Amino acid sequence: MKYARQRAEMVGRQIEARGITDVNVIQAFQKVPRHLFVNEALMDQAYGDFPLPIGEKQTISQPYIVAEMTQALEVSKESRVLEIGTGSGYQAAILSEIVSRVYTIERIHSLFIKARKLFDKLHYHNILTKYSDGSSGWKDESPFDGIIVTAGAPEIPESLIDQLSTGGRMVIPVGDQYSQKLIKLYKDEKGIHKVDLGGCRFVKLVGTHGWNEI
Ligand code: SAH
Repeated sequence: MKYARQRAEMVGRQIEARGITDVNVIQAFQKVPRHLFVNEALMDQAYGDFPLPIGEKQTISQPYIVAEMTQALEVSKESRVLEIGTGSGYQAAILSEIVSRVYTIERIHSLFIKARKLFDKLHYHNILTKYSDGSSGWKDESPFDGIIVTAGAPEIPESLIDQLSTGGRMVIPVGDQYSQKLIKLYKDEKGIHKVDLGGCRFVKLVGTHGWNEI
């Protein structure tokens, strides 16, 4: 099992060695077959320390950034989580191993279909998908214990803050098109609080509460 060995190495060198300590996150990374979330030609690179193209000018994030964002969400078995930007489906699959239900939205039809099929094939039955502009969230299913945005936004969409439960956490890259800050936002009775987790680089969040198409 070539990929099982590569996956174990990825978890040791990229995830644990860099300070990810949440046992649920580590176990999810040990389980999810990342090579199945990229095209066949890229499978041998799937466990490398970098993002990879997934078509439509989009990318599957570097493993460490997926782990960092997942840990920052502080979610557990009872949590319901919303993801904006399904992409390959890898981040949603990682979350589905940890939480009770994942709601994920993708605006590019071909990526949406591909991820949907993969979730079925791999029996990720607790992932609900939607083909839509996710920058306004998924109001009917709100509030969420966690919201994770895997595309860079010009600012934090107010609609997403509204859909976060009191006590909930959001992780979102905010900045211009070239570089962003990874922001963790908490909501409690007193209001919202933000922590800067450092620099990052994501593709654009395109939509009503994101960037324009062009
Ligand atoms: N979480 C993904 C990363 C995908 S890259 C993974 O694990 O592979 C970001 C994705 O966000 C792209 O697929 C892009 O099409 C999508 N996206 C950008 N703006 C969006 C929007 N407003 N609503 C939904 N998806 C969006």
